[in-house]
This record gives sequence, structure tokens and C-alpha cells, in this order.
Amino acid sequence: MQARTAPHHRRLPSLALDRAFLHGLRSGRLRLTSLPVKLRGSSFARIRQRLSELDSPQLSSIEKARQLQTAEQPCAVERLPHAELWLSTASARHLPAHGEAALLENAGRDRYGRSHWLQPAALRALRRLHHAAALDGVELELISSFRSARDQLRILLRKHASGQSWEQILKVNAPPGYSEHHSGCAVDFAVPGAPPLTEAFEFTTAFEWLQQNAGRFGFELSYPRDNRWGFIHEPWHWCYRG
Ligand SMILES: [Zn+2]
Repeated sequence: MQARTAPHHRRLPSLALDRAFLHGLRSGRLRLTSLPVKLRGSSFARIRQRLSELDSPQLSSIEKARQLQTAEQPCAVERLPHAELWLSTASARHLPAHGEAALLENAGRDRYGRSHWLQPAALRALRRLHHAAALDGVELELISSFRSARDQLRILLRKHASGQSWEQILKVNAPPGYSEHHSGCAVDFAVPGAPPLTEAFEFTTAFEWLQQNAGRFGFELSYPRDNRWGFIHEPWHWCYRG
């Protein structure tokens, strides 16, 4: 007679026993990308039930994310619409693939009321950076954070539908599966009140402050002028590399 226990069942107790983790999921402060349905307000039993439905690779990446506060799971680019275009672009420009964050923590809302999410370690570093900047009288607004490969795809399709060529679009936006924003470690900064995501950010005191100080908090500028990936100059885009 076959045992009916799921093969991943043994992994569950270690996930389920961490009450801080469960509280985070239930309060909506934490989010798992493997579980697209929000767990906010669910009972612990319901959350455990949902976790038990995940497969072993998903559970092990969540477990890793809980321990390290940062972990990524690979994106299946080949299953997305226009996969051929994304893969050939990435290959021609030697773009590194970026997996999606397994565990995300809520980083608050921006001027548009949008919620932002980052990997817990990146969020802690960002809070330290914000605090240090504020002490120096510099205000930095978080304007983009985690984005899934599907979110990235939606952005590209919207731009293409509005009449832009793929060539134009892919100089500004990475193909899905190749955006640092998938990692939950990349952020786009803006100056409160100023238009976001423009090259003018380069001439702000905020940018000057970031250049001098962001490295102390583990953040690096990803796309300087004439970067080797063929992306436009993005003074606003910084990535936490620990
Ligand atoms: Zn960015």
C-alpha cells in the first residue's frame, strides 16, 4: 500500500513553527511570491494549509529566504508570451537573469498610493540608508521596488501597444526574467515632488548623497552612462548587493 503523505510534507513543520513568520504573513507585512493569493487575515491553519500545497523547491526557497532574509527563485521566461524575443535580447546583450524574490516585506506606499515590497534584508538596509540621508537633510522617495516577471511583461506590452518599438522599449526596460527589480533588492529613487525616473535626478543633491553614501548600506548604481548592458543611463536605479 502506498503512503499518502506528500513528499514535501517533512519540510512543513520548520516553516509552520515560526510564529513571527506566520504573524507576518497574516498581518500582510510579509508576502510569498509562490502564493499569489494574499494570506492577510487568514488563520494560521489556513496559511499552513496553503503552504502545504506548494512543491518542495518552492518550500525550500521560502525556508532559505526566512533564514537568509534574501533568496530568489528562477523565472520561467520560456513560458511567457514573446519568449523568443526576450531570450534573444538577453543573449545578444549578455543580460544576467534575475530570479524572483521568494519572501517580500512591505516597504510602505509611494506618492501614488502604490504599495512597495522588498526582500527583508534589502528593506532593512534601505531603512538605514533613509535614516542616514534624513540626518543629512536629504529626502529620498521609493518609487519602484519588487516587480515580478509578469509585471515586467505587462509594462512592455503596454508600451508596445502605445506604439513604441521593441528596440526603444528594451533600451529602457529589461526583458521579463532579466530585471533587477525581480530580485526585490532593486529600488528606483525620486526626490519628493519632482518628476520621477528622469535623467534630471543626476543633478540633485539626493543623487550626490547616494553616490557618496549608498555603498555604506550595500547599494550600488546598476546602470551608469554607457553601461555594458545597453540600458539607458538610470541615475535613479540602485540595487542592494549586501
Ligand atoms: Zn529601476
